[in-house]
Amino acid sequence: MKLPALVALLLLATASTAPSTSPTAGAPGARTGFSAPPAAAAGSWSWPLAPRPALLRAFDPPDKPWLSGHRGVDLKSASDGGPVTSPESGTVSFVGIVVDRPVITVDHGNGLRSSFEPVASTLTKGDAVAKGEVLGTLLTGHCGPAPCVHWGVRRGDEYVNPLEFVLDLRPSVLLPLN
Ligand SMILES: [Zn+2]
Repeated sequence: MKLPALVALLLLATASTAPSTSPTAGAPGARTGFSAPPAAAAGSWSWPLAPRPALLRAFDPPDKPWLSGHRGVDLKSASDGGPVTSPESGTVSFVGIVVDRPVITVDHGNGLRSSFEPVASTLTKGDAVAKGEVLGTLLTGHCGPAPCVHWGVRRGDEYVNPLEFVLDLRPSVLLPLN
């Protein structure tokens, strides 16, 4: 008897978060009319910094997990201590210090997680965040004197290029630059 009630609660919880999702979620092109399009439709997320930040260091994943590389992108902030915002709705899954850096991680669902550092946050694990909601305050230290945020995105356990979520990197739809 309790299970249906639980399911109903879950459905309610899901429905209550629906307005915060991207309006493009129901965009035409969902051929089946049943399965939702990928949560990470290319270019559908927002930049975690405003105004749109410059890329200081690109995504450069190592060939092997144990090798060094750059498992994310470094985005230049226009000012010290600016707010870092969530690029997509989700749930805070981690807030804390990793080695010596304050990190906040947001679980966007569908196996996608964003991590930002160095970011000081007052949020706690389990907090729901909307797309564009402030996650915390950017600290300096990751790019020397230039204030920047390191943004990593994992799909499952694999690091992927965060820019694919804010830019449409598919070659077939690149627009002419002029
Ligand atoms: Zn970095």
